[in-house]
Amino acid sequence: MNFEEMKLSAETLRAISDMGFEEATPIQSQSIEIILSGRDVVGQSQTGTGKTAAFGIPLLEKIDIADRRPQALILCPTRELAIQISEEFRKLLKYRENIRVIPIYGGQPIERQIMALRKGMQVIIGTPGRVMDHMNRRTLKMDSIRLAVLDEADEMLDMGFRDDIETILAQTPEQRQTILFSATMPKEILELTRHYQRDPAHILVVHKELTLPSTDQYYFEIKEKVKLDALCRIIDMENPSLSLVFCNTKKLVDELSEQLQGRGYFAEGLHGDLKQTQRDLVMKKFRNRTLEILVATDVAARGIDVDDIDIVFNYDLPQDEEYYIHRIGRTGRAGKTGKAFTFVVGKEIYKLREIMNYAKTKIIRKKLPSLGDIEETKTRHFVDKIKEVIEEGHLIKYINIVEEMMTEDYSALDIAAALMKFHLYDADAEELDMEAEPVALARKNARLRDEDDSMVRLFITAGKKDKVKPKDIVGAIAGETGVPGRIIGHIDIYEEFTFVDVPKEYSKVIINGMKNKKIKGSKIHVEKAYESKR
Ligand code: ADP
Ligand code: MG
Repeated sequence: MNFEEMKLSAETLRAISDMGFEEATPIQSQSIEIILSGRDVVGQSQTGTGKTAAFGIPLLEKIDIADRRPQALILCPTRELAIQISEEFRKLLKYRENIRVIPIYGGQPIERQIMALRKGMQVIIGTPGRVMDHMNRRTLKMDSIRLAVLDEADEMLDMGFRDDIETILAQTPEQRQTILFSATMPKEILELTRHYQRDPAHILVVHKELTLPSTDQYYFEIKEKVKLDALCRIIDMENPSLSLVFCNTKKLVDELSEQLQGRGYFAEGLHGDLKQTQRDLVMKKFRNRTLEILVATDVAARGIDVDDIDIVFNYDLPQDEEYYIHRIGRTGRAGKTGKAFTFVVGKEIYKLREIMNYAKTKIIRKKLPSLGDIEETKTRHFVDKIKEVIEEGHLIKYINIVEEMMTEDYSALDIAAALMKFHLYDADAEELDMEAEPVALARKNARLRDEDDSMVRLFITAGKKDKVKPKDIVGAIAGETGVPGRIIGHIDIYEEFTFVDVPKEYSKVIINGMKNKKIKGSKIHVEKAYESKR
């Protein structure tokens, strides 16, 4: 839904547009108008789905400028959140005057808050403890509250704020409007809503809507040092007109954009160290398509409001699972199907699994396109192009040249084929050994090799890369778990991981004993190389 379709003031719409929000998120689409209408709402959706604006936009629209008393109270679990909410509110209020918002939380001198409250604050955002404190000192009166919001209600209950919340709500007028937002809905919360809300609208945004169903998501297991080649190869193959490449650091953004430029791509980097004018220039190029590839950090990409991005690349796996959603949310907009490609190196495969769990999404393994694949695509494009040129006509000048060559005994077929070769043949192309041995495949091989029923093959996330030697494996297992070293069987060390055969009866002890332990300084994970045959 568009914000323009909602009954919002021109000032609010302008502020929302300045914030770079293009369209309302599902929870916003469903809650804003209901809250505006005055009805109680209990809303559930995952973190990062824009719940702050979902209650903030209608709440701020309902503030009466003429009344200087507290009108809205937002309770939230932490100081950080109180500050974040008040910052988002200030942005929403950019074009409106005379609405006063204050965050109140523990850790800040109470006198300062008392002075600020005396000036007349209409919107109070606070943690339950500090709000209680002010209530008891009578520096904050609840009898003028018309709207109460419990944000991250589940978190507040987990933190033991239930009594405080009930005490606070009990002091507010009964005819108030009450909004409750939570990422989860345990029974306790339903009890709260039964006590403190009147006929609330239940708004549930199911996970599916959050996982960007119109984005096809793939990952490639590759070696670190071939990432650049892999990226270029995929771009050549897919031929996107706009792509966005995410890196985890500013340094890498600079390096990668230079490397891409060096290879003849129209690429630019975007990160927080660039001056505003530089950023604006890059964004302008991106918008008017003089740029094909934008390389960016998560923070820099946050403000990007460009539709039509064909492919998002996670050149680096995002550090935070939530970032993954934000990143791939940059493609597949406006009803189009976008693609997201993620590079995974070594142990990152475990992190990728966590991301899949978190995002409730499936990311499919894909093989890098081979040189043959790319050649085929290039040929197809070239042939299409030739057909277009023939359609366009005006070829007489060139027909003359061909006819002239044909008098020298070359056939039209020879001439055409030579032109093709001249255009398509790439002497520099070489097949690189790009793909890392995928964990899954190696595990399958391990199963085939394992014929001894008394032994179990374990999988350890440390390998040659970590300079692991067989004696380190034996030493670590014997040292950490106390099993005698001599019982340890065959050891296969690969680049990124290792297989170890151990007697069946010891496997549990070893797997448990090695949990969160280190080998050669790096933290490892041990599990059975394959599920036991049932
Ligand atoms: P939640 O409370 O659900 O965890 P937040 O309200 O903190 O989520 O919002 C997460 C991020 O998304 C914030 O940076 C916010 O500014 C941004 N955001 C919120 N609504 C939109 C929107 N409609 N379009 C784009 N970004 C949005
Ligand atoms: Mg929130």
